[in-house]
Amino acid sequence: MSLRLCASAVHGYPTKRPVADRGPAAYDEAKQRLSDMNVPSAAVVELLDRLVAFDTTSHRSNLEAIAFIEERLRELGAACRLTYDDARGKANLYATLGPADRLGIMLSGHTDVVPVAGQLWSTDPFRLIEKDGKLYGRGAADMKGFIALCLAVAADFPADRASQPLHFAFSYDEELGCIGVRRLIADLAERSVRPRLCVVGEPTGMKVIAGHKGKRDVSCRVHGKECHSALAQGVNAVEAAAEVIAHLSAMQRRIRRDGPFDPAFDPPYTTLHTGIVEGGRALNIVPRDCRFEFEIRALPSHDADALYEEIRSFARDHVEPAMKATDAAAGFAFEVISDTKGFDLADDHPAVGLVSGLTGDNRVGRVSFGTEAGLFNQAGVPTVVCGPGHIDQAHKPDEFISLDQLAQGEVFVRRLVEQLT
Ligand SMILES: [Zn+2]
Repeated sequence: MSLRLCASAVHGYPTKRPVADRGPAAYDEAKQRLSDMNVPSAAVVELLDRLVAFDTTSHRSNLEAIAFIEERLRELGAACRLTYDDARGKANLYATLGPADRLGIMLSGHTDVVPVAGQLWSTDPFRLIEKDGKLYGRGAADMKGFIALCLAVAADFPADRASQPLHFAFSYDEELGCIGVRRLIADLAERSVRPRLCVVGEPTGMKVIAGHKGKRDVSCRVHGKECHSALAQGVNAVEAAAEVIAHLSAMQRRIRRDGPFDPAFDPPYTTLHTGIVEGGRALNIVPRDCRFEFEIRALPSHDADALYEEIRSFARDHVEPAMKATDAAAGFAFEVISDTKGFDLADDHPAVGLVSGLTGDNRVGRVSFGTEAGLFNQAGVPTVVCGPGHIDQAHKPDEFISLDQLAQGEVFVRRLVEQLT
């Protein structure tokens, strides 16, 4: 089975065909090509084929995919631990191969994928399709390709001879704001021994990312007082919201002009914006309710708490008093929907040095999008982001990962794991 998949993956069929549907043809030729082309091992492609077939869109259960991964790791002798969401419809998996009483290295990825609804795909997004050296499917780049590499490398890991353990952390609901992994990290925090290094294999094109901005998502409900718009007895919730939104916008202009700045990031300053506003029912009714959502993507060195407090205090001190003068029940209710910490490891941090030494690329980068790495770093596990595929190929119709990227990822993970033997 795996050899057939290898053959088809390497052979490069001219038309799009499901990898799993290919016949036994071209095996010998493929084996020959394997030796002179930059392609991943057969096991990686086979595992990715299986993983893509699980529809783990964030709003659905990921339990079947987790069970598949867990079964493979248990067969190899891994100690596995699951942490669930409240409804027990989703789970994180933490698994350890080798001596569990020592530090070791952790490989981490999320099992959920973004929705395909509303996207125009040329193929079935939940079947892995190969064409022209690329493997198409939802999650191929973000980030089931990396999970497939992890499982393939695990199968070759000599756990009984290893001096340090190899850990895996596979989460749910990353795409909803790094929600699931928080439970895995809370569970990890109770252990006396934690990994000395974690690699989050988000698609970075195999670049080593040693820092990213934080991301705080906030929902604000504005409560006003309804009345006929011809009268002056109401509290206009939409206009109250607009005052705070305008203040947020002014804060952004100030930060863009005055900093703080960090040239390692693009853009080199903290960004804030309002992405959703809902409110009002009819033009001749003073609106009672309004809701808006904003985000703060703070540089790791910039205090997101202070920015958030500035927004809240503007609402409390400059907008609310006039609202309450008309109706004591009027006002703002802020709620943090998700909060992902930023992080920034120095270029000479041992974890950064080790990983960039193995990729052979010492141009360590920083990015503006958030990952689970911020939470791992906050929990005391030095974590960098480095994985195959490109972020601009993710979240889109016809998402793909190239065989070349998968191969580079596999070489990297195999070298990393050699550190443990
Ligand atoms: Zn991702």
